[in-house]
Amino acid sequence: PVEVLVVGGGPAGASAAIYTARKGFSTSIAAERMGGQVMDTMGIENFISVPYTEGPKLAAALERHIAEYDIDVINLQRAERLIKASETGGYHEVVFENGGTLKARSLILTTGARWRQLGVPGESEYAAKGVAYCPHCDGPLYKGKRVAVIGGGNSGVEAAIDLANIVKHVTLVEFADTLRADEVLQKKLRSMKNVDILTSAATTEITGDGEKVNGLRYKNRETDEEQTVELEGVFVQIGLVPNTEWLRDSGLNLTKFGEIEIDHKAATNIPGIFAAGDCTTVPYKQIVIAMGEGSKAGLSAFDFLIRNEAP
Ligand code: FAD
Repeated sequence: PVEVLVVGGGPAGASAAIYTARKGFSTSIAAERMGGQVMDTMGIENFISVPYTEGPKLAAALERHIAEYDIDVINLQRAERLIKASETGGYHEVVFENGGTLKARSLILTTGARWRQLGVPGESEYAAKGVAYCPHCDGPLYKGKRVAVIGGGNSGVEAAIDLANIVKHVTLVEFADTLRADEVLQKKLRSMKNVDILTSAATTEITGDGEKVNGLRYKNRETDEEQTVELEGVFVQIGLVPNTEWLRDSGLNLTKFGEIEIDHKAATNIPGIFAAGDCTTVPYKQIVIAMGEGSKAGLSAFDFLIRNEAP
């Protein structure tokens, strides 16, 4: 058993583990894939103080920083179940897919999230070649170009407003016959001159020239007609799914979207269990935010451990 077990090896997990190791606590970090979503990212231009880096480079830097400390790294292990301690200060247990278990008096959960995909032809083929999921990250790459945003909920409409300020033209594509975003956002979007809104439009394909995206095909669900929009980028905004399915029966409070509920100190409803980054209720899912939240969770774990002796 260790004092702190961090589950998840993205920016939040790396940050949490470094903070608790620096406090002198025995720390392990277990992850399905070290680096997390950062491994799937091409250019990163908003990691403050580093004007430009690339995902795999940042992931390698995270691993190097972890290796500076006495942190036990357990890579390629997927957590399947959490058994909470029977009393405050006792050992929580995490059961992994391979049947192994790890015990720790404090857990920091940082299992991140994944963007929900459309599942249409061209989407995976052109990922990072015109298909994007994060307007804060990739919006500026489409300056002066034409893009579509798929999804008419709050995140889709917010993304369309954001992008319309940067790019030449935005087509918002919604499957249902109305947008679901808040009225104030819809009003703002409708007031923008370089935006078209399509409703009852089922995206059927993202097309490209083999190198990058050149269009989007959709079916008008009222007329059954197939239409094409020429463009250079497609932002898919149909939901961010937290990787918390494994926590469903753990006793942890999750929102209806599956996010782990945390307070301003990254504490969950179970004493000794903290959470950070994209798997939590923290707003705005970004690398710098995940790192800040991870350090917060690490400091809260420290605070918990010095106040609660093992029973
Ligand atoms: P993640 O990075 O998702 O890491 C989660 C970790 O948990 C991983 O190690 C994963 O393997 C592990 N894990 C998951 N489930 C389990 C399990 N059951 N058991 C064990 N381990 C598990 N943000 C920016 O700030 N700038 C950008 O330019 C940017 N570009 C992006 C581009 C793309 C394509 C994507 C997908 C995201 C981008 N983001 C960007 C968002 C950013 O990557 C995330 O906000 C950030 O990585 C969140 O960090 P995290 O540590 O909370 O989670």
